Order: sequence, then C-alpha cells, then structure tokens
Amino acid sequence: MNIYNTFDATIANEMKEPSSNISVNSESSSKLSTLTPLSKNVSNFSDEDLNDPNHLLSKMMQNIKLHEPAKNSYKRLSTTQDDLTNKIAYHMKEILELIGEDPSREGLLDTPKRYAKAMLHYTKGYTDDLKEVINNALFESESDEDMIIVKNINFHSSCEHHLAPFFGTCSIGYIPNGKIIGLSKFARIVEVCSRRLQVQERLGRDILNIIIDNLNPKFVVVTIEAEHMCMTARGVQKQGTKTITKVCESTFEDKREKKEALNEFFVLYNSMK
Ligand SMILES: [Zn+2]
Repeated sequence: MNIYNTFDATIANEMKEPSSNISVNSESSSKLSTLTPLSKNVSNFSDEDLNDPNHLLSKMMQNIKLHEPAKNSYKRLSTTQDDLTNKIAYHMKEILELIGEDPSREGLLDTPKRYAKAMLHYTKGYTDDLKEVINNALFESESDEDMIIVKNINFHSSCEHHLAPFFGTCSIGYIPNGKIIGLSKFARIVEVCSRRLQVQERLGRDILNIIIDNLNPKFVVVTIEAEHMCMTARGVQKQGTKTITKVCESTFEDKREKKEALNEFFVLYNSMK
C-alpha cells in the first residue's frame, strides 16, 4: 500500500504517461489560453510543442509539479535569453537609481546586465526538464533491504521572501522498492529544485516528491542544512546560524519500521565523515 498522501497523484500519473496522452485539466487550459503567442526561439522545444498548447503544457508539467509557476514562467521558456537579459537589466538600472546610485558611472555600466544574467542562472531550474534529467537512469535494484545514502550535496538557492541566497547541503537516504536511480541524478534533482525561488521547507519536500514519484521507495528521507543570507546579512544578523529541515515518508504500515529506518539513516549519516 502506498501511503504517500502528500503527493499530487493526478500530476504524477500525467507525468508517467507519454506526453501525447496527457490530459489537461480545465484550470491549466485556461491558464495556457491567456498566454501571449509563443515565439519559436526556444531551443528546448520542437515545432510540435510550440504549435500544440497541450503538447507544450505536457512538457511543462514537471515544473508545475514542483510548485505552480506564474504565467511568465511560460513566457520565459518562449523567449530568448538575450531578450530576457535586456528586460531584467532595464528594470535593474531603475533600481540602481532608486537606491541612490548613478548607473552611468563606470563601475556600474554593465552591472544591470551582469545582474540579469546571474538572476537567470539562479532561477534556471524553471527551465530544466525533469524528465530529461532522470531519463535512462532508473535501474532494477538488487536488494530492497539496504539503505542508500547520498550525503552533503551542495546547493545554492534563492529565498522567495527576500530574493537573498540561501545555501548549504542536502542529504538523501532511501530504501529501494524494486528500482534505484543513478547516484549522480540526486545532485541534478537538487539542482532543478534549488535553482528557483524557494523556501527551505518546500525545497526538501520537492526533492522528496520527485524521488517518490520516480522510485516509489519503501522509505525516503531528505535533510537540508542551510545558511540564509536574509538572516545573516539583515534582520537578526546572526552569523553562522544554520537551519536544518527534515522530511521523511515511507510505505511501511507499521510506524515503528519507519522510525527504525530513520534511526538507521541518522546513525549512518553521523558515522560518515
Ligand atoms: Zn528570506
């Protein structure tokens, strides 16, 4: 029995089906119909995608699954990187003036453009294709009794409340249920989830949900240890303060088994240098 009740099964099922069979619910359809016409300057998308809104939307479902993107997320995918950079830089120049700077002085001349490029990098997770990330990396497991732990995956993310960086490490432990995933894919999954506007609590849950959706493991835990610049550079200004979050799910019907698995995770985790 699968007890992962926090997961959106509708979207999960849609993701598992071939893209052409994906049904579009009315809410998503109306969202798509409000979009501006899509240009064809997107390397990630074929002509077929761009001519067929349902096809395009099906490709976008990965991002929707993490959290509902703004309408502009679609626009971002249908616009060139140069166009986006110029638009963001235009507004950044205004912000520089508003804070009391002179954007025409030498040191700041290229700053709006540099900032725009950096911002697009910090949020590139919005354009990553999760299916492509995971593709061909699922294998049959040889044992469904042993725990697999990947410790201290570095990540950089942006706090959605202050647009300030938060960064640290993520560790993942799971007990397979017939399937395993290539170990390097965990770092890719963390990257897709963290390179967007986030809060630490949701970042862990997003990573957990992707693992559940693709592996349906018997047990999975995701811990994140992070430093938030909005805490250390402003507000209370407590240097070195770390925030630790943990999310954990299992298919065990007996709660004691879940607790035992979690204990095993922390014993192994603490024993690894
Ligand atoms: Zn913040």
